[in-house]
Amino acid sequence: MSALLITGADLAGSGRQDLLIEDGVITEVGALRSVSGADVLDADGLVALPGLVDLHTHLREPGREDAETIGSGSAAAAVGGFTAVLAMANTNPVTDTAEAAERVLDLGRTAGLVDVQPVGAVSKALAGEELAELGLMARSRARVRVFSDDGRCVSDSRLMRRALEYVRAFGGVVSQHAQDPHLAGPAACCHEGELSGRLGLPGWPGIAEETIVARDVMLARHTGSRVHIAHVSTAGSVEVIRWAKQQGIAVTAEVTPHHLVLTTDLVAGYDPTFKVNPPLRPREDAEALRAALADGTIDAVATDHAPHARHDKEHAFVDAAFGMLGLETALPVVSDAMVSAGLLDWSGVARVMSENPARIAGLSHHGQPLAAGSPGNVTLVDPSADVTIDRDSSLSLSRNNPWHGLTLRGAVHATVLRGRITALKGGLA
Ligand SMILES: [Zn+2]
Repeated sequence: MSALLITGADLAGSGRQDLLIEDGVITEVGALRSVSGADVLDADGLVALPGLVDLHTHLREPGREDAETIGSGSAAAAVGGFTAVLAMANTNPVTDTAEAAERVLDLGRTAGLVDVQPVGAVSKALAGEELAELGLMARSRARVRVFSDDGRCVSDSRLMRRALEYVRAFGGVVSQHAQDPHLAGPAACCHEGELSGRLGLPGWPGIAEETIVARDVMLARHTGSRVHIAHVSTAGSVEVIRWAKQQGIAVTAEVTPHHLVLTTDLVAGYDPTFKVNPPLRPREDAEALRAALADGTIDAVATDHAPHARHDKEHAFVDAAFGMLGLETALPVVSDAMVSAGLLDWSGVARVMSENPARIAGLSHHGQPLAAGSPGNVTLVDPSADVTIDRDSSLSLSRNNPWHGLTLRGAVHATVLRGRITALKGGLA
């Protein structure tokens, strides 16, 4: 039998307790005496959260193992406090069959640092024309429940309707990258506004997101199915989602750490590190996103971790690849921007970074309260540690880190997956 005793942790802000994990399951919580044979992890001064769950990770394997592998991405995730990540389908080949999904699952198990749960493509080869093998992926060993063409929008209304109808049968959800391609085409690379005009960059207007969000909540209502809005970036999208939730429509939404904090003025220097899709928005949008995360309109923080090799990112702004790293910095950013700012307490962080994402993804072994009987998945956070982000210390294979050089309050101290310490003090355990 394996046993881990975590002593003196503040359980999501509800007071100091000891936590005993035996054979991967939490068996006791309270003031515990030393347990013979148990490894001890001293958590004095630390906050314990249920293991973090990322709804939106790009691991690049298969196809672009120069940018990330399932192994390197799993390592970055563990160090970032995650015990489960959803691996997006836009790999090469695309995760659009049961076999492809099972392969991602198995590579994740081999790496063994986090549970890697494959996301299935909505359409074959992400082409937006024919539905992928949704049912076969759902019935496979990988039990796929989240489907997304992320990187691309399911812009065809009829295809989106059919996908929603299909996934309803097995409690699945369609995660939408909301971008009307007629309003924001592939060249659109910067928030459309005064700045994009001055810089001469093709603009990506907020309305291109909002029209798809509005359409999709209506399709969710019509089909009685679940839609999830990936990386919400505008105040207008927040308004639509708030309205839809008031109507009882089954919509959930995520926001990235970068859209919570970083703003469009950062692209003024044409640094492709700040090129991301959807683009960084004005300050008013970021403020609305933080408020929506605090009041529950937005359910989850998701990283949209998007590693890119140097030769894809280091180009003129218009030609560079979209995306930023996020797994290792998500918790410090949320801690700094939401907890230190008084917008969320630690139980709120547990909700938006573990409980809600696990529920949305249908991962019953994650996001459970830290109580007897729950899986032994725990993230220990030092809420008073100041961390200076250094892109060169990353376990990701890529370096496109927009937080480099910033000092943030709050750090992941340790990550525990089913009673096994996977990461400790910024490195693998
Ligand atoms: Zn996306």
